[in-house]
Amino acid sequence: MLKRRLECKEYFDGILAANNVILSKAITLVESTLDEDQLLAQKLIELILPHTSKSIRIGITGVPGVGKSTFIEAFGNFIIQEKNKKIAVLAVDPSSQLTKGSIMGDKTRMDLLSNNPKAFIRPSPSGKTLGGVNKTSRETILLCEAAGYEVILIETVGVGQAEIAVKSMVDFFLLLMLAGAGDELQGIKKGIIEMADLIAITKADGDNIKKARTAKVVYENALHFLSQSDNGWSPHVLTCSALQSEGIKQIWEEIEKFIGITNQNGAFNKNRNFQNLQWMHDSVKQNVEDNFYKNSNIKNVLSGIEDEVMNGNITSTQAAMKLLKIYKNEV
Ligand code: GDP
Repeated sequence: MLKRRLECKEYFDGILAANNVILSKAITLVESTLDEDQLLAQKLIELILPHTSKSIRIGITGVPGVGKSTFIEAFGNFIIQEKNKKIAVLAVDPSSQLTKGSIMGDKTRMDLLSNNPKAFIRPSPSGKTLGGVNKTSRETILLCEAAGYEVILIETVGVGQAEIAVKSMVDFFLLLMLAGAGDELQGIKKGIIEMADLIAITKADGDNIKKARTAKVVYENALHFLSQSDNGWSPHVLTCSALQSEGIKQIWEEIEKFIGITNQNGAFNKNRNFQNLQWMHDSVKQNVEDNFYKNSNIKNVLSGIEDEVMNGNITSTQAAMKLLKIYKNEV
């Protein structure tokens, strides 16, 4: 498909004018693996940087079926209607390359929201992206902020790897959990509970209300055993029903409380500064790695050395050292 690349200023003006078509094109640009797209993307990110950071970034995670998209639909509409804020919904899904988009592949899952002009929904980066999902998602957050989105919801599947990436790019981390039958703590890693700023038990309606209340107590007890974080915030457990719009307001109020407390004690900005530092190190690593695999000497020998490792002729450490020597032109 032929697509015309815009001039940097056209992207910039369009984004600042909150033009969603241009915002989408800019996101496609940062996701592109072409060198010339990457150069342009970096120029654009630099330009928009002074117009970013004025949002609240919320990570939302939970196992498939927990009710993430139903929740985001209800929560997003609440924020737009009751708080008069524009929201962007992004997805971080490291599995999408394998499963061809296991989350948010189908926009109709968020019918109301996707038709609301105050909402912008972007599924996870598809196919190969330079620097992986972390880099593109962080840059996508910045683009959405520059376009005036005040609440950024970042959805991910609760399977492990993605949470750590998402935690490193959000201000607040919301974990959605299902009420189980006595085995509440199974199926989700303890580490993920430790990352949560709030746990919400979903589907607390109908016959499920009692189970949800029991689960709330179980998770409250589990949280007691975790060490206190140093941002002055103690995570709570709430129940909610996205279908009945119950508990949605309370979740937003928790987030507002969190922002109030962490702004006052400086933890909010400290966390963002720390994330920026981490981002710098990630960028360096990614750049060095990209550069390494693009190097023509490496390209010439790589598959041969890979074969040697596969056949057990050479250890992986030896192979790595050999490659690095070739890269540094020491052979
Ligand atoms: P996701 O895979 O985490 O995005 O989950 P979905 O939002 O697609 O929801 C999975 C299923 O749970 C769907 O059949 C929803 O209708 C149902 N569901 C989601 N939220 C609620 C809720 O608040 N109450 C009830 N009873 N069902 C819900």
